[in-house]
Amino acid sequence: MPRLTQAPNLAIATLWADGLTAGGVAASVQRQYLAGVAGELPPDQCLPEVWFQHPGQEAQAREILYHLQHVPQHRWRCVCGELVVGGFEQCWNCETLMPRS
Ligand SMILES: [Zn+2]
Repeated sequence: MPRLTQAPNLAIATLWADGLTAGGVAASVQRQYLAGVAGELPPDQCLPEVWFQHPGQEAQAREILYHLQHVPQHRWRCVCGELVVGGFEQCWNCETLMPRS
């Protein structure tokens, strides 16, 4: 199973993997459980990665990923105090939806 890309955090890796799968490219997040030992490994070896299942789908996977990485960016403060950045419309901490103004 080939690696598609590295994600800055698990929330984004999961978002991308879900988006790829929804787009017809079976994908999964790897290395997510290494975060607990981050102090013992170089940081770039602990970041979650997105892998796709079928090597023949790389072009399709990269196109979907491009769109996932270029969704309109939101930056908002949740009622729980969490600052939510990226394409998220739901707080990853307490699952409250982004307030509509
Ligand atoms: Zn919240």
